Amino acid sequence: MKEFELINRYFKGRGIIRRDVELGIGDDCALVSVPTGHQLAVTTDTLVSGVHFFEDIPPRALGHRVIAVNLSDLAAMGAEPTWISLGLTLPTADMEWLEAFTEGMHEIAEYYNVQVIGGDTTQGPLTITVCAKGIVPNGKALKRSSARVGDWIYVTGSLGDAGLAIEARKQELMLDPLHYKAALDKFHYPAPRVAAGQVLRGLATSAIDISDGLLADLQHILKASLVGAKIHVDKVPMSNALRASLDEAARLRLALSFGDDYELLFTVNDNNKNAVETRLKQYGVEPVCIGQITAHNGEVQLVNKGQPYQLSGQGFEHFS
Ligand SMILES: [Mg+2]
Repeated sequence: MKEFELINRYFKGRGIIRRDVELGIGDDCALVSVPTGHQLAVTTDTLVSGVHFFEDIPPRALGHRVIAVNLSDLAAMGAEPTWISLGLTLPTADMEWLEAFTEGMHEIAEYYNVQVIGGDTTQGPLTITVCAKGIVPNGKALKRSSARVGDWIYVTGSLGDAGLAIEARKQELMLDPLHYKAALDKFHYPAPRVAAGQVLRGLATSAIDISDGLLADLQHILKASLVGAKIHVDKVPMSNALRASLDEAARLRLALSFGDDYELLFTVNDNNKNAVETRLKQYGVEPVCIGQITAHNGEVQLVNKGQPYQLSGQGFEHFS
């Protein structure tokens, strides 16, 4: 199949049409309008087979996931997702695979009212790059650099499930099939916290999405804000699947260090603590306070049930 045939068949005329898109797929560039009083938020993420996912990932899940991880970055900035373009490198033009992949992609794009406005396809090892764009009112984006000493540290959802699914497969752990399925679904179909991110505008002092692991991503906030943190590891939210599958040390390792869950990590000052909890709950999100920002620049102090805690083991090699 030629490139333009492939684009016509799987991308053109599929998905939603937004009124702020003057030209979508089909010209040299797309043309879009950013509403007055807003800034454009732009992010890019690449997923490589064998590096970011197993080669046998269901194509529909891959289509969902590659969009989800990009929308998660927009969510972490408090931006409203609007447009997506993608670069698709495929070993072969397998029609069945492409149909399922683009279905997964268009499904999540439609759900979040995002239009696919352009792309490029080439032949080579399976690699997908998405560039997602969003809009955010002038000056209202949530940055990493404004956490202050005394701010409360929160996370959304539960952590460690994607890690459970991947570790279970790599180490051939025997999990309850329902728990394994729940964890694998979280890995395959992450739900970016798009609404929560926008709710946090004007309330949170900083935010980031958890892609590399809670502690690694927390470090980005600490470095950018020149502060430290105290984390109560016993407060870190975990799913029933994770609690039922592993002992405390193993599940804390996944929840704190694995990543791939695409929840939000954010900080809130004392004045906005109640407002954040109430407003997020209105959107069906239960934020959990796991600690507080300290003055110890770059330092993270872990506490488990009141006692100092140290993480055991090495980092994770996700898909090798
Ligand atoms: Mg991110």
